[in-house]
Amino acid sequence: MTTIGVLALQGDFREHREVLERLDVCTREVRVPRELEGLAGLILPGGESTTIAKLMRTSRLLEPLRALAARGFAIWGTCAGMILLAKRLDATGIPALEAMDIGVQRNAFGRQVDSFEADVPIPNLGELPFHAVFIRAPIIAEVGPKVEILARLADGTPVAAREGHLLATAFHPELTPDTRFHQFFVEVARNTLSHS
Ligand code: GLN
Repeated sequence: MTTIGVLALQGDFREHREVLERLDVCTREVRVPRELEGLAGLILPGGESTTIAKLMRTSRLLEPLRALAARGFAIWGTCAGMILLAKRLDATGIPALEAMDIGVQRNAFGRQVDSFEADVPIPNLGELPFHAVFIRAPIIAEVGPKVEILARLADGTPVAAREGHLLATAFHPELTPDTRFHQFFVEVARNTLSHS
């Protein structure tokens, strides 16, 4: 049975669990290193990335997670979680896993459009666009050569990307009824598992 963990230090981890449960996927909240054992993948939720980065250090999760990411363990970061995954951050960010070859700019949409929603085409998920909720969202400012951009806003800004076993979204699929992105991550995690 595949179990997907959700980092539960701060942020909207419960919403992620609920979506996975709707998909009949076994889930586990992760707060300490031993809770990483036996997982097929881990979701880093939205929240406040600087707080989560600090809590990752104090809970001693940072080093085991860095090691797992380097070994090909599937990790998906949504919003703050994307910041935690990124190798490069703007000056306001606290580096955490530094696993995914992307540069991220925090709070990139400024005050007027702090939060907004947009229907974003994501060909990997099928024809129907994905209703994406952005909350004080970061953007993917630049990507390395092995990173595939999965979604862009109408102006071309990349807002979802994949680098093998790593997934990042600037928006929050856990806040909509659409389960396709979670299903996609579960498949990435299962495939990674069967090839490792
Ligand atoms: N602005 C937050 C940060 O930089 C991210 C917001 C979110 O996860 N919704 O950490």
